[in-house]
This record gives sequence, structure tokens and C-alpha cells, in this order.
Amino acid sequence: MKTKLETNLETDYDVIVVGGGASGMMAAYTAALRDLRVLVIDKNKRLGEKLSITGGGRCNITNAEEDVHTFLKNYGKANKFLYSPFSQFGVKDTFDFFESHGLPLVVEARKRAFPETMSAESVRTLMEKLLKKRGVVVKLGRPVKKIMRDENGVTGVVVDGTTYIAKTYILATGGLSHAETGSSGDGFGWLSDLGHTVAEPTPSIVPLSVKDSWVHKLSGVSLSFMKITFFENARPDDPVGRGVKKFQRKGKILFTHFGLSGPLILNSAHAVADLFHAGVVTATIDMYPDTDIGTLESKIIKIFDANKNKIFKSVIKECVPEGMTEAVISNSKIDSAKKVHSITREERRAFVELLKAMPLTITGLMGYDRAVIADGGVSLSEVDMRTMRSLKCPNLAITGDLLHVNRPSGGFSLQLCWTSGYVAGMHA
Ligand SMILES: Cc1cc2nc3c(=O)[nH]c(=O)nc-3n(C[C@H](O)[C@H](O)[C@H](O)COP(=O)(O)OP(=O)(O)OC[C@H]3O[C@@H](n4cnc5c(N)ncnc54)[C@H](O)[C@@H]3O)c2cc1C
Repeated sequence: MKTKLETNLETDYDVIVVGGGASGMMAAYTAALRDLRVLVIDKNKRLGEKLSITGGGRCNITNAEEDVHTFLKNYGKANKFLYSPFSQFGVKDTFDFFESHGLPLVVEARKRAFPETMSAESVRTLMEKLLKKRGVVVKLGRPVKKIMRDENGVTGVVVDGTTYIAKTYILATGGLSHAETGSSGDGFGWLSDLGHTVAEPTPSIVPLSVKDSWVHKLSGVSLSFMKITFFENARPDDPVGRGVKKFQRKGKILFTHFGLSGPLILNSAHAVADLFHAGVVTATIDMYPDTDIGTLESKIIKIFDANKNKIFKSVIKECVPEGMTEAVISNSKIDSAKKVHSITREERRAFVELLKAMPLTITGLMGYDRAVIADGGVSLSEVDMRTMRSLKCPNLAITGDLLHVNRPSGGFSLQLCWTSGYVAGMHA
């Protein structure tokens, strides 16, 4: 045990936080509020790189669902572990925290909360300022190479040949998505060495890649109120072999040069990944999910009757959502130059069916570089969730994306960072 005189102020701290992302900054600030000497080490040149790209640059900072049971249901099987940390720092605390520091929040569709500034950078700078104000020591551009331990717990972290020591350590190195922001999965390796079971990370909230060129050509188009149905074990060589219907979702679809994205798709990716175990995965898009096929056919008949002498191509745009004309033409069996009056009943029926079920083939999930979160991490059963401390290594807390928690997009990831960071800092 060192005496006060022997303490080296350069390398000895009460708390060392490895990783200065969302959860690490919250943990450091909370610990510093308790008058502890706190050091944050990050390998990037700036704190919170990933935070600054969240929510398309706007930062979906939390989700304004007030009912804790409803809120926690979004974390799937992990929800039962989260009551204790959320009772210490929940959604309302997140609102209070940011608003009391001059960053009011606004709530949009699906209860997604954003800073009124609509700028993720403003969230990042606020956190950075708060650390500075509380005297947190920050070392940037310094990758931690090694975590040292003995039988009692962590004994130090090694950076550039220097060992930094503390009473408590907080590991906040993030997951594997968007590695360019610094999250390269280092924490998973260390946690595994420390005796934790680390679930294999897979890209989780991630866009889908699609084979069909009509999808790629629609890049940039987004359509609200679509329904997508996924099928597994399809036989793509057989036109009627679409496969076994597995699940469907309604919402907005964004077409990209590689496939499909947007909240509906991102949040379906995890379930789609499971379908690949059974073979080829296909999908259909229903452009009129709230209209049954009979009603839609009656509408199309009316449009065709009013445009009998025009060619099919010039009438299609009245029948399909904006932006979809070319895609529908390329999928329809009807010659686009055909006069509407000579379209047969069978052709018309097939056209209506196409509007209710545009087929496409899913080739896979995009990689970590496009994932919002990568699933995987330390099982919550190996963490004391009242303190976020590891049950394998008592002076180490674990926060944020290092935790194995399945969750949809909508502010749930960052809320988990604010909550786990606060709890770790509070009990450091
Ligand atoms: C494009 C995108 C958009 C997103 N949008 C949203 C959104 O709007 N709302 C939402 O709730 N969630 C969103 N997320 C998810 C959210 O950003 C993450 O859940 C969150 O940032 C994770 O925070 P963290 O503290 O766990 O780790 P990170 O933010 O990943 O921070 C980890 C830090 O550790 C550092 N580090 C790693 N290894 C070392 C090492 N060896 N030595 C030193 N430092 C190290 C890294 O440099 C990094 O700064 C988004 C994610 C992405 C990729």
C-alpha cells in the first residue's frame, strides 16, 4: 500500500476510465462530481467520436417513453437486469441532465428525443466541457495496450509503456460498429482474458444488402407506410418458390445503392440474420399495406378506365407511390408501350399483385462499418447491475456497448450508455 507521499499524481488516480465515448464520459463526469481524481484515456484525438455521428448527426439522445416497464421491454431478454440501474438514472434523469446543462431536448415521432440544437456535436462538446469543468484529466491519442490484474482485481492499465493505476477502473471501449470512430472491440478481448463470457459480436442494427438492381437504382428514395414481408428457405430459381413466410413489418423504407435501410429495416436486421440459417432469404414490399387487394384492383380499374387510350407507361405513375414508376415497370410483365385498353384482366390482376408484393432477394446484412450497433459483449448475469461492477473482477465496472444487450434504434443505445455510465461513476 502506498502512503500519500508516495502517490505519483501523474499516474495514480481514484478512477481510470478507458474509453471516452458516451458511456465513458458520463461515468467520468459522475465520478468527478464525487470529488474523485478521474483519468480518461482514449486512443482518438477527440472524445466522443461516435457520439458526434449519432442520429445522422442529430443525436437521438434517448427515447421519451415514460413508463419504465414499456421502456425496458425494448431491451429484450436483458430487461430484467436493467431495473436497478434505470432506477438510479432513467429517461427522466437524462432529460433533466441535458436540459439543466443548457441543452433542451425535443421529442419526435416514435418518442425519439433529440437535442433542440439538432446537433450531435453539441452533445459531444457539452460532455467534453463538463469533464473539463470538473477537472477530469483526459489523455487523448493514447491506446491502452494492456490491462494488468492480480487475484484481487485490475492493478493497472498500460499506455505507451507507462502504467496508470487507480482504485477503480471503468471499461468503456465500446463495441465493433464503425471502427473508424475508435470502437475496435479491444474491450471484448480484455474482458474475456479477465474471465468473462463474451458473446460473439455480430452487426445488429444494420442495413440489408439486396441483389435486385431495381432496388439499387432507387438509391436515395424513401417511402413511408410500406409493409415488408420476409421469407426463408426460398428457391430463387423457381418464381413461385418465394419460401416460407416468417414475419412482416410496416413503416418507412429507404433504398440505397446496396439495398435497404431506414429504421424499419435496421430494426428487422437481427431477425433477418436468423433466417439465413435456413437458406436463401427473399422479401416482398407491399406499397399499399392498408388497402386490400380487391379494393386496390377497383381503384386500378377506375384509373385504367379513365386512361383507356394512353400507353401503360404514362398511366403507371397514377397507380404507384412517387418514385416507384421505373421500378414497377421493370418488374411488371406488361409491355410499357401497350395501350391501356388492350391490357387483359390477367395482366391487370398480376399488376395489382405486384403492387401488393414487389419481390426482392436479400443477400445479407451489411458489415460493422455500416452497423449502428454490433450485438454481443458481456452477459449481464456476470455484472453486478446495482454498480455495473464485474462479478469476475470487483474493481472493474463495464459500460455501454460492451454489455450484451439487444436493442432497437430509437435512442435506446445512448440511454443505456447514460444509465450504465452514471451508475458506474456513482459507485466507482
Ligand atoms: C452511425 C451510428 C449512429 C448511431 N446513432 C445512435 C442514435 O442516434 N441513438 C442511439 O441511442 N444510439 C446510436 N448509436 C449507437 C451509439 O452511438 C452507441 O451505442 C454508443 O456510442 C456507445 O457508446 P460507448 O461509450 O459504449 O462506446 P463508444 O462511443 O464506441 O466509445 C468507445 C471509446 O473507446 C475508445 N477506445 C477503444 N479502444 C481503446 C483502447 N484500446 N484504448 C483507448 N481507448 C479506446 C474509442 O476510441 C472510443 O472513443 C449510433 C451508432 C452509430 C455507429
